[in-house]
Amino acid sequence: MSATETLRPDSPAQILRVTGLQKHFPVRGGILGRQKARVQAVDGVSFAVEEGETLGIVGESGCGKSTTARLLVGLIDRDRGDVRFDGRTLGKDLTLRDLRRGMQMVFQDSYASLNPRLTIEESIAFGARIQGLSDPVGRARDLMDRVGLDPARFAQRYPHEVSGGQRQRINIARALAMSPKIVVLDEAVSALDKSVEAQVLNLLADLRAEFGLTYIFISHDLNVVRYISDRILVMYLGEVVELAPVDLIWSRQAHPYTRSLFSAMPSMDPDNRTEEPPLTGDPPNPINPPSGCRFHTRCKFAEAVCARDVPVMRDISGGQGHLAACHLHDTASGHSRAGEEGLT
Ligand code: SF4
Repeated sequence: MSATETLRPDSPAQILRVTGLQKHFPVRGGILGRQKARVQAVDGVSFAVEEGETLGIVGESGCGKSTTARLLVGLIDRDRGDVRFDGRTLGKDLTLRDLRRGMQMVFQDSYASLNPRLTIEESIAFGARIQGLSDPVGRARDLMDRVGLDPARFAQRYPHEVSGGQRQRINIARALAMSPKIVVLDEAVSALDKSVEAQVLNLLADLRAEFGLTYIFISHDLNVVRYISDRILVMYLGEVVELAPVDLIWSRQAHPYTRSLFSAMPSMDPDNRTEEPPLTGDPPNPINPPSGCRFHTRCKFAEAVCARDVPVMRDISGGQGHLAACHLHDTASGHSRAGEEGLT
């Protein structure tokens, strides 16, 4: 695990504090269905989010970002790790029910997230009604208005009668109906056309300000993450490898993996082209991840120490909150080569 030093110092401003989150999925086989191996989907992830902040989570497909989201909202059980939400710790003074009410999730597939037999108004009111919140229908109509869906036109329609962008607005309203403090958006705009995507991103920014929301925004699209996030967390093979305020990481990617991700990003700006070759090859098998730094099998800077020792997350910005887990930045051990390799 490399992520134990990812945490900011404890503070009352933190609405979410995750420590050592771990999820290994069993792989079963044979007639008796015995466990043969474990997929290390999330392995020791730690981070803290302050109230009103948007934390973007990026990484290749299979890096563990969506599993992390599902663990946070309690859709799947964690093997290990502490989740502290709004000053209370899950499993101690915080129940799963309270966590789910305070932390809502919006998924990529806007259609699969909705019950096709419920009208839009009923869909939005459903959760609030189950939770015993007052006036669920009035609440639903008000939220439809806030997300840009005229209740007079849309309340009695069904999910198949509206567009993808409108369905995602319904899902956002449905999440807000529970009066959450945090909304986890898992690739929530990825399936939308670019023009609709921009409208929904602007809507999310407006709603964040209006309701004082905190977002955890998961996406493979770095430009989208940059637009909406205050900080960016980069995951590779179940671990956190870099975490930084968006401006810092945009001007300087300290971890070679992050650098590769950024170099693969399309840019129309001729002054913003990188010479860095994009990432090649598939990620290693998460059932048996590489020793030491998990990225060493794909890293052009790898040395013997990388296969041997697990790099620890360190602040590389003199206290500005830019952290990376890479031996190139480990000045204490004598392995630091970040300056020579142009990663400073
Ligand atoms: Fe590359 Fe070594 Fe840094 Fe891992 S620790 S990213 S292998 S240089």
